[in-house]
Amino acid sequence: MQTNFTADQLADPHVAESEKILRKCVHCGFCTATCPTYVTLGNELDSPRGRIYLIKDMLENGRPADKEIVTHIDRCLSCLACMTTCPSGVNYMHLVDHARAHIEKTYRRPVANRLTRSLLAAVLPHRGRFRAALKLAKLGRPLAGAFDKVTALKPIAAMLRLAPASVPATSSLEKPGTHAPSAAKRGRVAILTGCAQPVLEPGINEATVSLLNRLGIEVVVPQGEGCCGALVHHMGREEAALVSARQNVDAWTREIAKGGLDAIVITASGCGTTIKDYGFMLRLDPAYAEKAARVSALAKDITEYLATLDLPEPVRKPGLTVAYHSACSMQHGQKITRQPKDLLARAGFVVKEPREGHLCCGSAGTYNIMQPEISARLCDRKVRNIEATGASLVATGNIGCITQIASAAKLPVVHTVKLLDWAYGGDKPAGL
Ligand code: SF4
Ligand code: SF4
Repeated sequence: MQTNFTADQLADPHVAESEKILRKCVHCGFCTATCPTYVTLGNELDSPRGRIYLIKDMLENGRPADKEIVTHIDRCLSCLACMTTCPSGVNYMHLVDHARAHIEKTYRRPVANRLTRSLLAAVLPHRGRFRAALKLAKLGRPLAGAFDKVTALKPIAAMLRLAPASVPATSSLEKPGTHAPSAAKRGRVAILTGCAQPVLEPGINEATVSLLNRLGIEVVVPQGEGCCGALVHHMGREEAALVSARQNVDAWTREIAKGGLDAIVITASGCGTTIKDYGFMLRLDPAYAEKAARVSALAKDITEYLATLDLPEPVRKPGLTVAYHSACSMQHGQKITRQPKDLLARAGFVVKEPREGHLCCGSAGTYNIMQPEISARLCDRKVRNIEATGASLVATGNIGCITQIASAAKLPVVHTVKLLDWAYGGDKPAGL
């Protein structure tokens, strides 16, 4: 694609990067066919190609964002299916991240939208606040129907509906410490404990540590690590995302210096995509660029890491039929497609792949709160495809997808690592 940026504009490294990306797009439109919002809404401006044109126009003309571009960029799930499909290697992720940061700086959103976004940014990345909010949401749940009647309050209704009926007890894994292997030591990793996931489902990290310890891996929960920054990053709050990124880079760098790390293990693929991008996000910060690149290189999804180990025979072969839902951040963001299915099959599960596996379930961070109608349509479509497999449960590797699919599916939805932990001698996941 031809671009017309001035030399002054290109002196801004963010614009220069976006220009490089824009020039790669050859307008072929292949990406439209796999874009969930285009497939759902049928509007070119809700397709990757349409959004790329809108972003190009805004950046080239140095214009503040307007209502039209905000509408179509807000509808983008950042699922990155377009990047998997694109034959020209267009890095839509970095382009839309730049557009979102530009929107955040130049556009004044309507007051209800602004308040909801600020609330989410202030609560979700902090475990204590999130836990308290979930307890409050439980009380407010009966009001969801009333909030649904006012367009500006629909996100509050969506939040109330997504809140679990009960909030699990706090896990001891939230405290920093070292979890020693119970077999001969053959590795050392740090685990990202994260923010929302350990509050909603502490059993995911518990199963991970238990499985890794039995396999001879020491697991460290470093002092000072926390939210990866993805939630605010996707809202265009670049500075807040970089604060989280630097904090985590510091925490893991200290651990690397102490005892070396074979990997930084991540159990939420949404976080994995962002941490693998820290090297890019902090490339312009001379104090962090190198450390961040090292951290990104060490970041591994739990299934990616397990696939590098020489695994023993499973202790039990559950023989259940599992529909494997590949989160967008897993398949498109990190290009991890084979390992989770191979590990499940090796552990004795019969793995089925639902139709339209490339399409997002509509969770996408806070998307199911901010865009509840499109999200619900995608969720219904996903659940129909999953149920058509005839499987008796769903396995997936991202807490957002677990919450979203479980809100509509009749089958239990379980994190992949909990199934693997069970097969290799751990506890049976609750609800099976
Ligand atoms: S990230 Fe997903 S929703 Fe956004 S343009 Fe690409 S395919 Fe469409
Ligand atoms: S598939 Fe790639 S090159 Fe083609 S229009 Fe989409 S982003 Fe551009």
